[in-house]
Amino acid sequence: VTASSLIVVSNRLPFVLKRTEDDGLVRKPSAGGLVTAVAPVVVQSGGLWVGWPGLQMKETDSVPESVEGDVSPTAGLKSSQVLSVNLDDVDYELYYNGCCNATFWPLFHSMPDRAIFNEKFWMAYKKVNEDFSEITLKALRKMQTDHPEQVPLVWIHDYHLMLAANTIRQKAEEENLQCKIGFFLHIPFPPWDIMKIFPWEDMILQGILACDLVGFHVEDYCLNFLDSCQRGLGSRVDRKLMLAEHGGRTVRIRPLPIGIPFSRFDQMAHESPNCGLDTNNVKVVLGVDRLDYTKGLVNRLQAFERLLEEFPEHIGKIMLMQVAVPSRTDVKEYIDLKEDMDKLVGQINGKFSTPTWSPIRYIYGCISQQELAGYYRDADVALVTPMRDGMNLVAKEFVACRIRDPGVLILSPFAGAGGMMHEALLVNPYEIGTVAKVLHRALTMPHDEREVRMNALRAREKIYDVNFWMKSFLKSIGTLIEEDGEDV
Ligand code: UDP
Repeated sequence: VTASSLIVVSNRLPFVLKRTEDDGLVRKPSAGGLVTAVAPVVVQSGGLWVGWPGLQMKETDSVPESVEGDVSPTAGLKSSQVLSVNLDDVDYELYYNGCCNATFWPLFHSMPDRAIFNEKFWMAYKKVNEDFSEITLKALRKMQTDHPEQVPLVWIHDYHLMLAANTIRQKAEEENLQCKIGFFLHIPFPPWDIMKIFPWEDMILQGILACDLVGFHVEDYCLNFLDSCQRGLGSRVDRKLMLAEHGGRTVRIRPLPIGIPFSRFDQMAHESPNCGLDTNNVKVVLGVDRLDYTKGLVNRLQAFERLLEEFPEHIGKIMLMQVAVPSRTDVKEYIDLKEDMDKLVGQINGKFSTPTWSPIRYIYGCISQQELAGYYRDADVALVTPMRDGMNLVAKEFVACRIRDPGVLILSPFAGAGGMMHEALLVNPYEIGTVAKVLHRALTMPHDEREVRMNALRAREKIYDVNFWMKSFLKSIGTLIEEDGEDV
């Protein structure tokens, strides 16, 4: 699949630049599903990628070419295909740690009490979005020169860049640059009651509506967005056809649930060495999350403690292996959560440990996906219990790696994935006693039932993988060229 003249715009470039000892720059690969799926298309189609390089670039710096032997998804991405957005340190701090992660992240996850509303954050957010728009316009001009016969697609990603489409559209019209603009939000879109708490919510809505296609993971987020447009801006909307009218244009809203690179995880599970989880006679309950308050980690530990209290037959026979990836460590809410988790793990281990066994193994650190694949494969139960989550890829990666014994997935209905992975055991993470009961059920579920459930879960994720998602987005905006060359 190729897409005609694709310009991807995301907060981060698809690799990180690092400074070497001799003051040069090297590319370090980044792993996410977005990069795995989208980068090869940008490479093949000669597209462009606009993003922040991860450090301050000097006047004399330029983006390095990929080195020989690079096997990352961005291997063939030439430096001329990369347009880096250089941002002032102070602006970046206010925009990224401030507006993105201390305001929008909690608000869009329907946790407004955790959100900080600060005019300086907002000013920086607007400025950075303008900076991204400027560079995207450069990319558009380059596209028009190189491929005057094609209408480029600008594909903007995520809550960091909700205003960019507005400026891009205005300036492109002024300069007679043709383009289509698409936007995908990787986190939930909240109900209007929550959205309207943001003091400048109308600007956000208008920013998103400057696109031709707006994608969310699930229908609920689409409906929330349409609702906000209608009630906040007075836009005419059609909920059935999922359309909103804005500025004399019709904007398509679509549920486009993201998937994972299924075959890559399946393969990594085959290749991953024995990780030691299945050697002793202890069943493993696995949690894998960024250390984030949306992930429901405190409730999860409490539920595990409740299980040991109410079903003491599991004492000495199970363990919770929790990987918590350090995240946003400069933001207060995250520093507090780290302390709470450290305490709780200590308390529970202190309460139940014996000389030869401890209930919780807690890893505060990041593990490579190759190593994770082994954990996913060998654990008995995955406990994925966010209070709110746009999609949750861990749930999908777990099922992709179940190439041996069919494990059990316990999943929160408040993750986007909870709306589709019907064969998981769904449980409300706020109900700690019920989570404990469901855990007990998972730990004692017969093989046949586990197999039927896991086969169905795997079959779905295999079809609706990340490539399917990307094709669906490009089809929905009408720029997909199938391999036979036919426009869809
Ligand atoms: N992940 C990782 N190493 C870790 C823990 C997680 O590479 O130690 C990856 C994991 O494979 C998944 C992503 O981080 O692809 C987490 O995505 P998810 O949608 O579950 O949550 P997010 O962090 O995006 O909120």
